[in-house]
Parts: sequence; C-alpha cells; structure tokens
Amino acid sequence: MDLNAKIYVAGSRGLVGSAIVRRLKKLGYKNILEKTSKELDLRSQAGVELFFCNERPEYIFLASAKVGGILANNSLPAEFIYDNLMIETNIIHNAHKYKVSKLLFLGSSCIYPKYALQPLKEEYLLTGELEPTNEPYAIAKIAGIKLCQSYRRQYGDNFISVMPTNLYGINDNFNLDTSHVLPALMRKFHEAKLSGAPSVTVWGSGKPRREFLYVEDLADACCFLMQYYNDSEIVNIGTGIDITIAELAAMMADITCFTGEIVYDRTKPDGTPVKYLDISKLTKLGWYAQTPLRAGIEKTYQWFLRNSANLTFQQSHDLNI
Ligand code: GDP
Repeated sequence: MDLNAKIYVAGSRGLVGSAIVRRLKKLGYKNILEKTSKELDLRSQAGVELFFCNERPEYIFLASAKVGGILANNSLPAEFIYDNLMIETNIIHNAHKYKVSKLLFLGSSCIYPKYALQPLKEEYLLTGELEPTNEPYAIAKIAGIKLCQSYRRQYGDNFISVMPTNLYGINDNFNLDTSHVLPALMRKFHEAKLSGAPSVTVWGSGKPRREFLYVEDLADACCFLMQYYNDSEIVNIGTGIDITIAELAAMMADITCFTGEIVYDRTKPDGTPVKYLDISKLTKLGWYAQTPLRAGIEKTYQWFLRNSANLTFQQSHDLNI
C-alpha cells in the first residue's frame, strides 16, 4: 500500500476499526477514509453504492459489524444476522464493482464448530455444528468469508479474510447487557471497588476457557496481512494462549484492587466450553502478538479510568461502527 493510497476503514468508531486507524496513522498513511454510522448506514444498498461511486477507495478494512457478548447475541438474533449480512454484502459487492485493489474482511473465532478440536485450525470451518448462542452471527460471518472467496475465485478480486480471537482494548463496549466478558468484568470490578460492594457476580460457571488479544496487536496483524497475504484461505489471529473465566476474574480483581468475593451466576450461559486459535499459519508468515494479557488489561484499565466519566455505554441496538 502506497502511503498516499485511499484506505477506507469501515467501522472506524468501533474497537477494531479505531485501532486500525491508529495503526495506519502510526505507519504514515495519510489518506484514511472514515464514515460514522450516522453519515453512512452500511446496511443501505443504495447508500453504500453511492459512497463507492463518489469516493472510490483503493483499500478496505471491513471492520464494521453488529457485535456483542453472549447475552446480546442470544437475545437479538435477527439483528445479528441481518445487519452483518447487509454490511458485508454491500461492501464486498461494491468493492468488486468499483475495482478496489484489496479488501480485508474481519470474521470471528465463533465461526468454528462448537465441539471442534482445540486449538482451532483454519481448516475446521464448516466441519460441525455451531454454538447456538451465537449461530446467527457466526452464519453471517461465514457468509462474509464465502463472499470474499467467491469474488476471488470468479473474478480474481484480492479479498482476504482474517479470524480474530476475543478482543479487548481502547473503545471497547462496556455496556453490561451487550458487552463481552473482559470489558464487563473490568467495569463490574471497578464499580464494586468504588462502591465497596462485598461481591461481584460473574456469569456462568467460570470454567469456560477463552483466548484474549489486545486490539492494538490485532490492528498490527491486519496491517501486516494487508501487506503480505494474498490468499483465499482464512487466517487466524490470536495469541495461542487461553485462560478460564475464573482466572480472568481473579486477574481483574487484582488489577482493580477489589478484595471482596467473586460469585458465579449459573443461570447465565457458559457458551462454548473452550475456544482458542491455532496461530501457526500466522506465525509462519512471521507475525506474533506483542502484548501479554495482564499488560494489555492494565493499559485498557488506565484508558477506562481516564474515560469512564465520558463513556456512554452503548445500547443494545447500536451498531459498533
Ligand atoms: P463468548 O466468547 O462468545 O461466549 O462471549 P462472552 O465474552 O460474552 O462470554 C465469554 C464467557 O464469559 C461466557 O462463558 C460468559 O458466561 C462468561 N461471563 C462471565 N461474566 C460475564 C459478563 O459479565 N459478561 C459477559 N458477556 N460474559 C460473562
């Protein structure tokens, strides 16, 4: 990518998109195109076509998506499948029509079967049943992968797909109804510490295992793959290291200096029992995550402390774009 190339980051207000914009700016890219969801509704076919016709981006990072944690996915399945299908279809089709040089599509580790062998290898895609709590979201993300692969196969478009593991960092969603576990626990432990509450409630059994990647590392990997990867096959992005939710809760209690009790609410779902990625494809290409989990959480917590007064905790119907 030329430093003056016109690069559209779709979803630049969200956790992933904003990190990609920060990374691109750090690398010296000068012509970054951003649109808020108010300026451009990516679910609108006519709106997206007009945007491409006027702007003619050369490169695209497709980081816009309707995203959320286990409860949001479970309670808003229609929005999770419809919004994501519309966003991907509109952008990928127009990227083909307006001859975009390269597009990077962000999927998710939940595209893999619920009971797949661990760590999750790229080739396990579509080899078994999905986790029911996020099946509509996963189906939409799988459709995005297939769109990229189909346009490449039929027309030779250079569209690539990457599958990040669970992410966290600056600009995360801290709404307790819709967020993922890591920002939810950060907020819960922080507020319990401030209020002197005797306990913090963690959903489920605490036994599920998850892998967490600092979003600045993800952005670095996306820029790396945009430069060096030109294949149809999906690529996992993670750390290769997982921990239990109970271990994560203990680490969060320590970082926020909460000394009370941790209580488990077993009426809430556990979701997939284990989920961590095989990252050997990415490491063979020469990329490794730089930020250990504790250091990433501490940096995120510092940001949260500076910004918590200004954070408007997103509503469940918001798009993370
Ligand atoms: P998942 O990775 O798609 O299952 O999504 P989440 O990040 O929402 O949840 C991961 C695990 O953390 C699940 O087992 C949740 O039950 C558990 N968990 C524990 N406490 C919380 C919480 O406060 N919020 C969320 N979202 N998950 C929690």
